[in-house]
Amino acid sequence: MSNLNITMTINGQAVSGSEAFDVENPATGKAFAKAPDCTKVDLDAAVAAARAALPAWKATPIAKRREALHAMAGVIMQNLPELSRLLTREQGKPHPDAEGDVGGGAFWLMESSKHDIPEHVSEDSAERHAVTRYGPIGVVAAIVPWNFPIILAAFKLGPALLAGNTVILKPAPTTPLTTLRIGELLRGVLPDGVLNVISGSDRLGPWLTAHPGVDKVSFTGSTQTGKKVMESAAHSLKRVTLELGGNDPAIVMPDVDVEKVAEDLFWAAFRNAGQICIATKRMYIHKDIYEPLKAAIVAYAKTVKVGDGAEQGTQIGPIQNSAQYKRVLELIQDAKDNDYKFLIGGDAADVPGYFVPITILDNPPENARIVQEEQFGPVLPLLKFDNLDEVVGRANDSEYGLGASIWSSDIARAQEIATSLQAGTVWINESQHLSPHAAFGGFKQSGIGVEGGQEGVLEFCQAQTVFTRKPQPAA
Ligand code: NAD
Repeated sequence: MSNLNITMTINGQAVSGSEAFDVENPATGKAFAKAPDCTKVDLDAAVAAARAALPAWKATPIAKRREALHAMAGVIMQNLPELSRLLTREQGKPHPDAEGDVGGGAFWLMESSKHDIPEHVSEDSAERHAVTRYGPIGVVAAIVPWNFPIILAAFKLGPALLAGNTVILKPAPTTPLTTLRIGELLRGVLPDGVLNVISGSDRLGPWLTAHPGVDKVSFTGSTQTGKKVMESAAHSLKRVTLELGGNDPAIVMPDVDVEKVAEDLFWAAFRNAGQICIATKRMYIHKDIYEPLKAAIVAYAKTVKVGDGAEQGTQIGPIQNSAQYKRVLELIQDAKDNDYKFLIGGDAADVPGYFVPITILDNPPENARIVQEEQFGPVLPLLKFDNLDEVVGRANDSEYGLGASIWSSDIARAQEIATSLQAGTVWINESQHLSPHAAFGGFKQSGIGVEGGQEGVLEFCQAQTVFTRKPQPAA
């Protein structure tokens, strides 16, 4: 066990905490460090610090808050090598992807600083002036999952801080270290208490969402947990933004160039070992190209290197944690029990760590668990379709509605298909691209509210309308 001794940041100070929990390297399955296990006393201190910092931060001119976001991004970029190495160690992702997560977080902070906080005059008549302004909500709890710990934290931090809120950031228990380290590096960059970073075991999330001193919960994680967050927030009517799970369909039309799209389609599903909310989780391929495309995807899959993310050349790392590893293996076992056909993979390698081989299934039935559930791992069902109405119906037949992609050389038709898909984001001939300037959120049980764009900033704002009756001339 290394003695990393990374601390929480509460009111700008280091807090080691009186309790700690183990953090594993998923490539070995062994604990390599400890993280502070935030107690109720520590949490109260973090909430008190965020509340105390609120009036001054809210009163800080937006230009200064923009500068603070730039400074945060600068510090993260200066420490990119250290942070991305640490991220690979705790998260498992290949080192270039870890750099992408950390660097993407810095980029998001920079870009978020470009948003404006709007002011809307709805009436300016002889009788009355009416203006709606947007101020901060207050203390924001930012709760983040383990698949993209840094960029997903930045999705929240950028707009929340820009709008004048103060924040308590909580990473997932299996990936706390890089986030805590960023908290350490940012001490002194922001006024004390504006950003507090705490880590804890499973008890901490529910404490945070129930805390009476928190005004808004911005949550990214599973749909199941999102429902608990909403329930907990309901007691004091905390505002919530919920970015939840997905079961994204890809629709591959018969007019694609099979050899050209195979690689892109593969990565749409398998990047980050499939642990992406907007990964393709069901791939519908038109029957006319099903066989050649299937062969091309499998041929490409055989060239991809799965291994320890710290090793040069690794393209896909392990599953991030043991609970998710067991869940993915359970879905594979279900496919075996039902005699679904495997094109590649299926058997977990007998090696240390949470490695699942690239696994592709050949046209399992639509009601298979691997089609209906969110696998969040490197397992993909290829599914055959006949016609457009049928495939749109199958794509939409899900409790989720996060993302979807359409692959076709007929752009106009693909754009038309997009309008019939129940998904918060639709990609045409690409996948997973997100922008700090575009709203991202889910239909149905994939979430409530959005991140990104002006709409994402407004999720961290409280609207206030002021009506002023103008002096009227004497009659
Ligand atoms: P999770 O829901 O288990 O945990 C997410 C976070 O919530 C963690 O920080 C966890 O500690 C915390 N948490 C757990 N229980 C809590 C509770 N009762 N109250 C408050 N907080 C609690 O999710 P996960 O397994 O870490 O992440 C995977 C899931 O996240 C997948 O379903 C994926 O699709 C989803 N996800 C969604 C998006 C999106 O933007 N829509 C992005 C990434 C991941």
